[in-house]
Amino acid sequence: MAYQTIYPDTNETLKTYENATADDLNRALTTGHALYQQWRNEAPATRKPILHKVAELLRLHKHHYASVMTHDMGKLIGEAEGEVDLCADIADYYADHGEDFMAPRPLVSKQGKAYYIRQATGIVMAVEPWNFPFYQVMRVFAPNFMVGNPMILKHASICPGSAVAFQELVNEAGAPAGAFTNLFLSYDLVSQAIADPRVAGVAVTGSERGGASVAAEAGKNLKKSSMELGGTDVFIALEDADWDRVYKIAPQARLYNAGQVCTSSKRFIVPADHYDDFLAHLKAAFAQYKPGDPMDPKTTLAPISSAKAKQKIQSQIDEAVAHGAKVYYGNEPVDLPGQFIQPTILTNITKDNPAYGQEIFGPVAAVYKVVSEEEAIALANDSRYGLGSVVFSKDPAHADAVAQQIEAGMTFINSSFITVPELPFGGVKNSGYGRELSELGFTTFTNEHLVINATEH
Ligand code: NAP
Repeated sequence: MAYQTIYPDTNETLKTYENATADDLNRALTTGHALYQQWRNEAPATRKPILHKVAELLRLHKHHYASVMTHDMGKLIGEAEGEVDLCADIADYYADHGEDFMAPRPLVSKQGKAYYIRQATGIVMAVEPWNFPFYQVMRVFAPNFMVGNPMILKHASICPGSAVAFQELVNEAGAPAGAFTNLFLSYDLVSQAIADPRVAGVAVTGSERGGASVAAEAGKNLKKSSMELGGTDVFIALEDADWDRVYKIAPQARLYNAGQVCTSSKRFIVPADHYDDFLAHLKAAFAQYKPGDPMDPKTTLAPISSAKAKQKIQSQIDEAVAHGAKVYYGNEPVDLPGQFIQPTILTNITKDNPAYGQEIFGPVAAVYKVVSEEEAIALANDSRYGLGSVVFSKDPAHADAVAQQIEAGMTFINSSFITVPELPFGGVKNSGYGRELSELGFTTFTNEHLVINATEH
């Protein structure tokens, strides 16, 4: 497996990187472990200015970091800049709240004076995907930096430029050696790292298949893990929805980042009497998207991240159609050299169609017609995934009642997916386990260390 930047707009190979060796890994483990032991005796306040500096540098060099991401995996430059801003906000958030999150928590017990403290546990091995090359890394780095857990990163092999840029960012902010180490690891070396006693935890964001493999390695070695995996998120428009708002938000909920978002709305569930109108509006909006160079701010549809990813999406569409799905819009070749998929709307997907249960990680909307709210909720939950979900209703109580019946880690009401530092992110079922962001994400790899004094009350 080669770590390479291939610009998806031109297919030009911009740079190839050497894989890390077992010696590189061992050096990173030694440095990281020594830092963990040093950090155990230092208050998180000592790390706070460095994390704020990370945020400052991100904002200062926003276009540079954004451009690196765009060249790695093709996202629109404007969306990449938004990602850099979000990363700066995450860094500031954990810098501001890390000390509070680490403060001792008193416990009430007849056995004595009790409390627990949150402590670092050791190196976190993070395996991350290409779709948000900075944000996914920041979600693990910022909280663990404040906790005092050094991080080793194995990034996706198609976004090595972003991995190197993140390393440079952390170094420039003044973080000590070992706080964050990017290594271009093979899968075997990832397994070797997980088995090493100096590694305390494993964080994965990626596909169900990748997550299952790495979770198995973590389980074999009794390492705590968090899994942020795929989804088939629903977008449920209820009868009492504000339909103008639905029409405005639905296209972006599917096409942001060329549809390559774990929490993109992938299944649109619409009442029968709104079905035709919804399809017409979605089609009109999809037709406005303009493919082109993602570095050009006028482009609105980015290429898919790689030739392999495009082939996979195309084969999923072909398979869906072969099993009876109708192409309501799209699925025409895009006459450009880059890895483009035309925004596509599929209907008539029956339960026996492979597309019914699959995550299609690209600009493809599956639209379902239902005759009742019960049917909408049952369809939403008839998935082996449970990441995000969207519900539209003008009645807040109604929206809450439906949201609470959905088997998902997150429900966004009258909005497409939302991610900000202070709100937890994660799923259930085969979308994984654990949470990132917020205080919940801070505690993923902490030791809740109980201290009780039986002679004090
Ligand atoms: P992927 O193929 O699973 O890759 C993700 C990462 O895992 C990459 O770094 C990959 O390395 C690595 N990997 C895969 N198998 C591995 C193994 N056996 N041992 C060690 N490392 C391994 O996923 P992807 O296609 O890049 O990412 C898209 C998926 O991520 C989608 O399903 C999406 O929904 C999900 N996602 C989830 C979230 C969330 O928070 N829940 C967020 C974003 C994306 P290589 O690149 O070298 O293969």
